[in-house]
Amino acid sequence: MKDIKSILQEQAVGSTLTVKGWVRTKRDTKNAIFLELNDGSCFGNLQCVFDVSNLSDQNKAALERLGTGASAAVTGTLVASPAAGQPVEVSAQSAEVIGEAPVDTYPLQKKAHSLEFLREIAHLRPRTNTFGAVARVRNQMSYAVHSFFQERGFNYVHTPIITASDCEGAGEMFQVTTLDMDAIAKAGKAVDYSKDFFGKPSFLSVSGQLNVETYCMALSKVYTFGPTFRAENSNTTRHLAEFWMIEPEFAFAELEDNMALAEDFLKYLLGWALDKCADDLDFFDKRIQKGLISMLDSVRNSKFVHMTYTDAIKQLEANKDTFEFKPYWGCDLQTEHERFLSETVVKGPLIVTDYPKEIKAFYMRLNEDGKTVRAMDVLVPRIGEIIGGSEREYRHDVLLNRIRELGLDEAAYWWYLDLRRFGTAPHSGFGLGFERLMRYVTGMENIRDVIPFPRAVKQAEF
Ligand code: ATP
Ligand code: MN
Repeated sequence: MKDIKSILQEQAVGSTLTVKGWVRTKRDTKNAIFLELNDGSCFGNLQCVFDVSNLSDQNKAALERLGTGASAAVTGTLVASPAAGQPVEVSAQSAEVIGEAPVDTYPLQKKAHSLEFLREIAHLRPRTNTFGAVARVRNQMSYAVHSFFQERGFNYVHTPIITASDCEGAGEMFQVTTLDMDAIAKAGKAVDYSKDFFGKPSFLSVSGQLNVETYCMALSKVYTFGPTFRAENSNTTRHLAEFWMIEPEFAFAELEDNMALAEDFLKYLLGWALDKCADDLDFFDKRIQKGLISMLDSVRNSKFVHMTYTDAIKQLEANKDTFEFKPYWGCDLQTEHERFLSETVVKGPLIVTDYPKEIKAFYMRLNEDGKTVRAMDVLVPRIGEIIGGSEREYRHDVLLNRIRELGLDEAAYWWYLDLRRFGTAPHSGFGLGFERLMRYVTGMENIRDVIPFPRAVKQAEF
């Protein structure tokens, strides 16, 4: 059995076929009944036309039960469509009900539903145009991620999801335990982690980076692509508690190489979406964000602007009345700052580098000035930060100093420090938040709408 995508592509007029899918709409006219079937293989529906004048009783009964949302099998002949909107349609001979969707209880009727409402029926929303398109683009973007790195000789490494070291030193981690917390609380006892599954406190990983660095120091070019978890207690349209991250890491590479890789990577992904998801992007362009396609296209052909953090702060200070949070040298850039830089100052993507060490992670390479590190964030219009990365500190003594300065548990990083003790080498990498990319590519506003089942504060339904 062919899927609707192949049928619409091949346009084998004259062939007999059976098609299965879900009814998007049913329309009755005097002479004909039109069923629009969708099977999710592509954005488009396949129109099936039943001639009312010679409808068998069986077909008539079936069509009565086939409303929006029902699953059906239709058999007929593919013909050129006389109407605009589709090149071919099915001149239908028979309809079969596979599963009904009663009109009085099926929540997805023909009318447009709000994204908020659809979030409450996340198990049914993939059947809408919007979420079907999001799912297909998400699939293509995953494929493109692997394709990009595989073409360049990067090895995919599976980093662990459970970790006993807080690698960013940033907190915001979910604890993993098999201890009976209720019983411990009732007994009024202190928690004894030596009795826990791993014999010590353990967590869901916020990043695969530290682990993937070990493979970088052996295979040279590596990447991870997997779920990461952050107990972000912030209810924004940019943060999830569970999100997917792509983290390449490559050896003998400095910050400039890292910037070039990040730029190539983003452009490759946008280009892939434009080439492989044309129908879905067309929908997003029309219905979600006007001008999306031309924006993506112009980014694909642009050169990313490079700017140091210090210069970025100058730009922001010169416009400080624009901001709720007043910028100053040393502050962490807020989304409003990031968006101003990309939307107003450079009008496109930019890479900000050399941030103050105090606002960045301990593992970033210290610059000669002793104050800034070789960090880079890629900022894009509408989203703000989409990529965060750096050249890593590969000098053992400098890294150790930094760990001590920050009061981190030196012993916990023994294996990470070993990488600098044995055959150390400059290396760099970054993290791209997959859902930030998805927001950028689709124009969808809320990050909860670009992942099938969003996990956020007080939200873990489905
Ligand atoms: P932000 O300041 O926007 O919270 P961050 O500095 O915490 O980002 P990093 O720790 O550098 O981000 O993580 C790397 C990338 O992961 C980010 O550039 C972003 O694309 C993505 N990311 C970070 N936190 C989240 C989150 N809670 N939900 C979805 N994506 C995220
Ligand atoms: Mn964050």
